[in-house]
Amino acid sequence: MAMTNSLKKSISHVIFDLDDTLLKTDDIVNKVLKVYLNKYGKEWNSKGLQIVGKTPLEAAASLVDHYELQCSTQDLLSEITPMFSCQWHNIKALPGAYRLIKHFVSCDVPMALASNSPRSDIESKISYHKELKDSFSVIIGGDEVKNAKPSPEIFLEAAKRLNSDPSRCLVVEDSIPGVISGKAAGMQVLAVPSHREKVELFGSADEVINSLFDFDPERWGLPSFSDWIEKTLPTKPWFIGGPVIKGFGRGSKLLGIPTANLAVDKFSDEISEMSSGVYFGWASLSNKGIYKMVMSVGWNPYFDNTEKTMEPWLLHEFKEDFYGDELRLAVIGYIRPEANFPTLESLIARIREDGRIAEKALDLPLYATYKEEEFLNSLA
Ligand SMILES: [Mg+2]
Repeated sequence: MAMTNSLKKSISHVIFDLDDTLLKTDDIVNKVLKVYLNKYGKEWNSKGLQIVGKTPLEAAASLVDHYELQCSTQDLLSEITPMFSCQWHNIKALPGAYRLIKHFVSCDVPMALASNSPRSDIESKISYHKELKDSFSVIIGGDEVKNAKPSPEIFLEAAKRLNSDPSRCLVVEDSIPGVISGKAAGMQVLAVPSHREKVELFGSADEVINSLFDFDPERWGLPSFSDWIEKTLPTKPWFIGGPVIKGFGRGSKLLGIPTANLAVDKFSDEISEMSSGVYFGWASLSNKGIYKMVMSVGWNPYFDNTEKTMEPWLLHEFKEDFYGDELRLAVIGYIRPEANFPTLESLIARIREDGRIAEKALDLPLYATYKEEEFLNSLA
């Protein structure tokens, strides 16, 4: 949702949710629930039951009810809690989370962490992320207030401990209970939905963004980032490779933009960890050479794909197909979030613009240096 300038507020404090806002907890949740439910002859379906943003007790009660388990909520919690605890060290930070927190620390913006998880779980989860651990002036768990989210209590308590007026606090949340809680507390709310199919339900948030890469602090009166360069954001380099397969077939036919697709099943974990959006970098093709590349990761809203995919477009005119050839990619920067377009022409125009941005940015020494990577050169 676009935010008009008239809505821009002077924010002085930022309050973050933790799970699936800063840390990618849902991978662990899916993993643990799959194992647990299997044991009782049930199959976990992450798209069925919504437990995002709930307290452990509420989530456990929903599970017992939804899967008709022959146990009490407390029994389930007792069995499952240790299963989660031994997975906390595997939780990864969401793309852009460290960058954002580091930025606010360096600009002296006071931050709080307010999560429906028990305080001890929060402490244990962030103990594996030194970039987050000491960055918050206030940390509050769901067990430290009477009423958890969607009650406003936890955010109001955070504002109080930050010595801030609620109206000067910005809440950053991935879940609907969290957004409701923040708005009920009289705060500005920035939503970064962790489940894309529910995006339309975030209407009460003041702004909805695709990923933390798209957080623009300036819109809230907070200090702006200075790491964007030539309309691109350098990201942690990501190296992948495999044989080129036939894609949807629409790249060259419908768009006039031939993509070189890789079999995504080999990289499903990596793709799941990446925020959707348009990225760029270098591509090496066996026996051909190294080329500039721009790539979309996500569901391509215009075509409404059901699976998250990646579709690299090599910025070079090839005379023939190269299906089956080995392709290696060094993904090194981000351009923009995925977006829907009213017409095919506007989609094509935007992809071509992405190509021009990538083409120009890759000549910058910061990005050009990756062309020398052994990973790419050992193939070309
Ligand atoms: Mg959350």
